[in-house]
Amino acid sequence: MVHGGEAFHDAVAIDESVVAAVEACIPLAPLHNPANLEGIRAARALLPDLPQVAVFDTAFHSRMPRRSQVYAIDREVSTKYGIRRFGFHGTSHAFVAGLAAEAMEADLRDLRIVTLHLGNGASACAVEFGTSSETSMGMTPLEGLVMGTRSGDLDPGVVLKLARELGIDATEELLNRSSGLKGISGIGNDLRDLQAQAEEGHDGARLAITVFAHQVRKYIGAYAAVMGGLDAVVLTGGIGQNSAAMRRRILQRLEFLGIRVDEDRNQDVAVTDDDPVAEISAPNSRVRTFVIDTNEELEIARQSAAVVAGAKKVEAKPPIPIAVSARHIHLHREALEALFGEGYELTPYKDLSQPGQFACEEKLNLIGPRNRIEGVRILGPLRSACQVEISRTDEFFLGVDAPVRHSGKVEGSAPITLEGPKGTYHLEEGLICAWRHIHMTTADAEIYGVKDKEYVEVAIKGGPRDLIFGDVLVRVKDSYALEMHIDTDEANAAELGRASLGDLVDAEVYIAPEVGEAVIQSKR
Ligand code: AMP
Repeated sequence: MVHGGEAFHDAVAIDESVVAAVEACIPLAPLHNPANLEGIRAARALLPDLPQVAVFDTAFHSRMPRRSQVYAIDREVSTKYGIRRFGFHGTSHAFVAGLAAEAMEADLRDLRIVTLHLGNGASACAVEFGTSSETSMGMTPLEGLVMGTRSGDLDPGVVLKLARELGIDATEELLNRSSGLKGISGIGNDLRDLQAQAEEGHDGARLAITVFAHQVRKYIGAYAAVMGGLDAVVLTGGIGQNSAAMRRRILQRLEFLGIRVDEDRNQDVAVTDDDPVAEISAPNSRVRTFVIDTNEELEIARQSAAVVAGAKKVEAKPPIPIAVSARHIHLHREALEALFGEGYELTPYKDLSQPGQFACEEKLNLIGPRNRIEGVRILGPLRSACQVEISRTDEFFLGVDAPVRHSGKVEGSAPITLEGPKGTYHLEEGLICAWRHIHMTTADAEIYGVKDKEYVEVAIKGGPRDLIFGDVLVRVKDSYALEMHIDTDEANAAELGRASLGDLVDAEVYIAPEVGEAVIQSKR
């Protein structure tokens, strides 16, 4: 299936709801989805007992960063009409990137690859450390490279002008079916015909070939910049696999990026299903260039078999909720009574997500050498040692230098004076800046492939200030609820919403995935 819209991130077994959702995506891919649906209907009528699976061409790009998804138009409008970039040819880009990594004997998660699917439809993809971070097709497969009959990138003003002159339907028809190689050449969409005519001196054919190559080269440069580097370029699709002349045009004058092609190798390429990878880079080329026979059918068959077998496709680990800990205080009985009076009991205000833990009505003031902080909430129940957890920013304000510590490790930590309604209580030690950590159960630990007391990296994705936290301590106990705890400074650095005690922040977080699906960070 070409277009899964917002609805699909993975292959799915087809039922009525899937058919309806794909129908709803027809306006996004008018050339493809209706044909795909015809196929589904025909197969269902003829083979009613056969399970069917939809594999979406948009899925590989579904975790592109927001900056690659957004069109710079009014956000209310784009939200209302579902206008965003999706990307296509995902099955092919993912497949050939995987084969390139294999050929390089490297881990896909260590590589920055530009994959170029150049067929009748054409698109480029920045495969950055295993995931698609940018691709040239957008909300529809019309954007980006010059294609057989599709225009690719245009000034939106051109579309408006055409719509005024020709009407909407004729414009859509023009841009989808009589533009691209066909439109420029006036001959047709098959590069072989154009190459033959160009040799005869046909100006339109020559121009179409030049514009096609120019546009692809532009994207290679852009994607190297987007990824901040480049390790490999892969060409595939009917044109990418078969036209040595087009490959040469595209890849010439890219030495400054480290791309050097061996023209003999380029001319000799003959890739097949059985022998799908040919390298065409010169031996001294820093960036390696491959021609790869894409095999979307094989990839689709693999994914379908997995869905039918009930096996889960390799998935990103589920997101981890984040709780932002505002500054807070844990007390022992002696301190409680000194601050609130003899026999005093804490008043629960609300339960926290960790079982048995609660925020209290009671608050205290912190008195530091430089300043004081009023109204710091106490957390229950009482503990055997007092502990005050504040952020680095609070430390500067109070004028103390507290160590970054694991909860409970207060020996040798900083002093602080607490002030309550019945008096003050001085702690010689107990003031810490809490070490960021994740609470999880044994079952969670298995899902994430981590162990108690291990340190991991956690990537915050999908927000305006994406960030990777290193040195995150894993704490495993079956009584815990899955949750990452960070302080307000850390939350602010990642733009994770306003901190309030125990509030869960709705953010996409992935931890140390084993397989290059969502985020790339490895365990330390
Ligand atoms: P695809 O959509 O990937 O099947 O690619 C089809 C397109 O590849 C055709 O329309 C041609 O433009 C192009 N193509 C296929 N074979 C060759 C070839 N030997 N030389 C040049 N272009 C080719």
